[in-house]
Amino acid sequence: MSDTQDPPQDESTADKSEDALDGEYDPREVEPEWQDRWVADETYAYDEDADTRFTIDTPPPTVSGNLHMGHLYQFTLQDFVARFHRMRDDTVYFPFGYDDNGIASERLTERELDIRHQDYPRREFQEKCRDVCTQFEDEFTEDVQSLAISIDWDNTYKTIAPDVQRVSQLSFLDLYEQGREYRQRAPTIWCPDCETAISQVEQEDKDKHTKFNDIAFDLVETGEGPADENATFTISTTRPELLPACVAVFVHPDDDENQHLVGGSARVPIFEQEVPIIADERVDMETGSGIVMCCTFGDQNDIEWYQAHDLPLRLAIDESATMTDLAGDYEGMHTTEAREAIIEDLDEEGSLLESRDHDHTVQVHERCEEEVEYLVTEQWYIELLDKKEEYIAAGREMEWYPEKMATRYEHWIEGLEWDWCISRQRDSGIPIPVWYCDDCGEPVMAEREQLPVDPLSDDPPVEACPHCGHDSLTPEEDVFDTWATSSLTPLVNAGWDWDADSESFTMELPELYPFDLRPQGHDIISFWLFHTVVKCYEHTGEVPFENVMINGMVLDENREAMSKSKGNVIPPSEVLEKFPVDATRYWAAGTSIGDDFPYKEGDLEAGERLLQKLWNASRLVDQLTPAAQPDEPDDLAAVDEWLLAELDATVESVTAKFEDYEFSKARNELRSFFWNTFCDDYLEIAKQRLSDGGDTSTEFTLLQAHRTFLQLFAPFLPHITEELWERCYDEDSSIHTTDWPTAGGYDADLEAGETAMEVVSALRRYKTENGLPLNADLDHVEVFGHIAGFEDAVAEAMHVAQLDTYDETPDITTEVSGIDLDYSLVGPEFGSEVGAIDAAIEDGDYEIDGDTLRVAGVELDDEMFAVEESRTYSGEGEMTETESAVVVVR
Ligand SMILES: [Zn+2]
Ligand SMILES: [Zn+2]
Repeated sequence: MSDTQDPPQDESTADKSEDALDGEYDPREVEPEWQDRWVADETYAYDEDADTRFTIDTPPPTVSGNLHMGHLYQFTLQDFVARFHRMRDDTVYFPFGYDDNGIASERLTERELDIRHQDYPRREFQEKCRDVCTQFEDEFTEDVQSLAISIDWDNTYKTIAPDVQRVSQLSFLDLYEQGREYRQRAPTIWCPDCETAISQVEQEDKDKHTKFNDIAFDLVETGEGPADENATFTISTTRPELLPACVAVFVHPDDDENQHLVGGSARVPIFEQEVPIIADERVDMETGSGIVMCCTFGDQNDIEWYQAHDLPLRLAIDESATMTDLAGDYEGMHTTEAREAIIEDLDEEGSLLESRDHDHTVQVHERCEEEVEYLVTEQWYIELLDKKEEYIAAGREMEWYPEKMATRYEHWIEGLEWDWCISRQRDSGIPIPVWYCDDCGEPVMAEREQLPVDPLSDDPPVEACPHCGHDSLTPEEDVFDTWATSSLTPLVNAGWDWDADSESFTMELPELYPFDLRPQGHDIISFWLFHTVVKCYEHTGEVPFENVMINGMVLDENREAMSKSKGNVIPPSEVLEKFPVDATRYWAAGTSIGDDFPYKEGDLEAGERLLQKLWNASRLVDQLTPAAQPDEPDDLAAVDEWLLAELDATVESVTAKFEDYEFSKARNELRSFFWNTFCDDYLEIAKQRLSDGGDTSTEFTLLQAHRTFLQLFAPFLPHITEELWERCYDEDSSIHTTDWPTAGGYDADLEAGETAMEVVSALRRYKTENGLPLNADLDHVEVFGHIAGFEDAVAEAMHVAQLDTYDETPDITTEVSGIDLDYSLVGPEFGSEVGAIDAAIEDGDYEIDGDTLRVAGVELDDEMFAVEESRTYSGEGEMTETESAVVVVR
């Protein structure tokens, strides 16, 4: 590639002071200036009165720490959409929220202040959370603004704010009235570290190294009667601390060997309780002895057995994973401590048969990675399991980008085993607006007009229980799961509320709902997307989104997930110290959405080179053209019409790709057209033509193409395009609020034009290789190829006196000049014969027969070799071949 796009120094010095594009591009200076100006000018404000709009339900980041590369990537992708649609439609609704209630922000507060929530009165701890969150939110906002994300900063919300609390509590009351919620005392998934119930979606698999222990249980009775003295059987378990909670032993009905035990009973070692032996198909016959114990509760199976066989409840572990009095001598120990002690004691009394290393998967709480327990507690649930099919169908009503992500949503619903537990035994959350009768237990809901309420400080709406008349009520102390509120963001944004006069739900901005787009990561399809669909669907009867765009995760350069424990986390601040924001955006556009992809400095460097190229090309255009854009001449030169027709095709194609969220294809196509077609080909010709005197056709085309490029690049590279736009075209308004380019209806033989450009490049190369200046005259050039209509353009640009064109191919002879072997295939196949094969090829002693090479007495298949050819032109002059033409300089 030539570097001749750089401004010709000698020509430009004379009137440089009038030059709009003085000097080099300095993103360090330019980028922060624009970021501040966009915010101050409210460039991205949503216009409520616009005719057309595009609405985005932006993910409110959980306040749990600082900005990471995942945020940078995700926000940037959303911003491509927002900026494209802001230019294409009249206005864009692109709000910003913080999800600042719930466990994540509580744990951040505990970490930041080095405190435990249990040690403070609730109000005091909540205030500490507010303070810490506010500080993190302020920093985060600055960070997001410094990424040039085109948020409407007048449309912001916090999920802990009173108006959002009202929406959240209204949702609770509505679902209760619809019969979609219930409160139940039952086994719950429990995090002993956070000391709260959690939901199925918050469980995460974690590989764990542990011991598999074979333990002898005394057989008391078989199914046929009293067992022999000293008769035992073996139970294998990773959790012997659950022995005091053992309530039964199970055998598979197809397990012939152990069938005689069914109906009998066994005695649990150390703890001595006698438990029944029962048949059940859920037993995994492949693991251990095929006989398993059921404890209340070690896992999901235990819960199912407990419910199916009406077993007693033995709770040996409490809310903080401490052993209860049921554990006898082990009472007060933590489960891990009790496990060690019990193994030791089993060994001592001879019940431990074997203890071997074992790797298995356990369920942990995703926030703290603590292994979950299953406790019987009283919780509020939203019913899900009865409507799985309906929620899957609701998902199918949305367009998924990429489409494959829809299956993740469906698989999640198919695998649901629990209704959604929405109550949390935590401090900093939205209160559940309910009181309970102290006599009959009847729940008393808050009135809608009252919301938001905190039952701990506000009065219930009635003096006495409406059910039994009892006059004392106890407030609910639990708060909502964070997702119970963040799943309402479309309704929060649309201003959903209860209207007491009309006794119905209303929306302040009904035109927003359903939203055009929900953008989010694939890691929270089961959390945020699923729960939003459920809630909005139940409240409005409608799916909340037309389209869903799912992004992947940012990996390190070796395609490993970034994690603190691996020490491979790259903070955005480090990246932005080295690279302009526009370069990070160029990188972010580099992969198909939905795919995980690596952070690669090489891609950011390519982005930087593009910025320089854009700046330099703009300077050249600026120098070549008059200050005011000339009117379109009636008669455009063929090469100008061709460029504008190519531009039309690019506009249409790039627009379609933006509409389909195919950012990497849009970026690559645009870059390649700008760099190769415009800069390398067209701009060279334009420069040549303009140096011979003014030409309105060229000037018009240059400016038209340049303006269009800037606009097409604007969603990707907002700073440099804004800077160039201001300097070259409009000092008063932003490029980001201009109308998206449309095709101008230009018509040209695109193929002939492209071939003509190849010819120009070939001639340029010829001059360079022969040490000629680019404006050297060539006497006679023959072109074998289709460049009809562009002959004059080629001749003019390359200073050719006589240019002849021919449709037929010239007289070229092709000769085999050598054979290239693929040794990775030939070596293993022919081993010691390779030397002889090489020698025979060297001597020219071989024969090519169709796809086969015969040499040194063996035959090679076509994938093992490539034929090298040399082509010679036997006519007069020097030949150069391009992709679609042959050029001869005589
Ligand atoms: Zn936890
Ligand atoms: Zn009552």
